[in-house]
Amino acid sequence: MSVSNLSGHWTDEQLIEHLYDVGPEDSHLNGCRDCQARLSSMQAKRRKLELSPASEDEVSFEFLAAQRRKIYARLTERSPWWSSLQPRKLVSAAAVLVLGAGLFVYEENHRQQMMANKVSDAQLAEQVSSMAEESEAQPTAPLQALFDE
Ligand SMILES: [Zn+2]
Repeated sequence: MSVSNLSGHWTDEQLIEHLYDVGPEDSHLNGCRDCQARLSSMQAKRRKLELSPASEDEVSFEFLAAQRRKIYARLTERSPWWSSLQPRKLVSAAAVLVLGAGLFVYEENHRQQMMANKVSDAQLAEQVSSMAEESEAQPTAPLQALFDE
């Protein structure tokens, strides 16, 4: 450890080290009222710090931090559903909506086509059968037309 200063008194650092039981082994403190007074004042300060470990700055910081946390919590609680969405998410959500609407329209058209096909299926079967009958009944029609001229 460093020796005492020129006047023989302990330095503040030495007194602080003594407070934390790491100070120099020096008989000067026992015989010096000045150093004892400084030591006792330091002890008082330390006791005050220990009794209220948070200084005013720390208190105000903690207070502000707690307040801010409350405000943030309140903001997230009361925020509408879309405020939590990022712009990219909004775009993809819109794309999903458009895609869904398109699919719905497609399904609707497809369903209507299916309905129309169902109706026309019977008609188509009739047409096919009548065409078959006609084709069977008139295989020589074009040839006959030739002779008619
Ligand atoms: Zn002294």
